Amino acid sequence: MKPQETSLNTPLKNGSKHTEEIDVIGDNHIGTSSETPMRPGAFDQDDDLKIELIEKHFREIMHILGLDLTDDSLRGTPHRVAKMYIKEIFSGLNPANMPDIKLFDNKYGYNEMLIEKDITFYSNCEHHFVPIIGKAHVAYISNGKVIGLSKINRLVQYFAKRPQVQERLTMQVAESLKEILGTEDVAVVMDAKHLCVASRGIEDDTSSTTTSQFCGKFKEHATKSEFLNHIYQSK
Ligand SMILES: [Zn+2]
Repeated sequence: MKPQETSLNTPLKNGSKHTEEIDVIGDNHIGTSSETPMRPGAFDQDDDLKIELIEKHFREIMHILGLDLTDDSLRGTPHRVAKMYIKEIFSGLNPANMPDIKLFDNKYGYNEMLIEKDITFYSNCEHHFVPIIGKAHVAYISNGKVIGLSKINRLVQYFAKRPQVQERLTMQVAESLKEILGTEDVAVVMDAKHLCVASRGIEDDTSSTTTSQFCGKFKEHATKSEFLNHIYQSK
């Protein structure tokens, strides 16, 4: 679906009904699509310009909050935040930062399940822009091609470095891996803690969220069980 043309200056509708809708979507963490919603021309501006613009706007936010931007500790914060957004925590929005993943022939003829578990990731909730911290467990059965183990980690990190909902993050890693490996036999499970649930709103520090995407052979009970037993056996 083609993204709608949006404007930065599109005002939010006033009225309690709209405010309520915003709260409902945020507090229930409802995503609207499996693709990250991007505007047309998202990368027409280069990183340096984006950093400059975000810095300006973040300085304004801090000013509105009442902070003294002449304070030595705060002076550099708008620039630090802008640079961190573009170069680090939201760098996965830019397709140019997609990890370069080379395929190798499956020379060993290893045709069993390969599992990479407990991959730590840091993402951010797209509804509140606060961290999601979790572990990803990824598995595939080779269809003749394999990838380096660290590349699975890199792929998870790439999609995590976007404003996200956990369901979409899980699906994006699975879909991408299926495409790279040329097989449907891929599974992804993610366990994560959402700081927007832990530190605000319901303020529940102990709950966590699990999402999964089982494709191809992983839809079969025996294969799915083998995978789940491996990732949860020691817990
Ligand atoms: Zn949230």
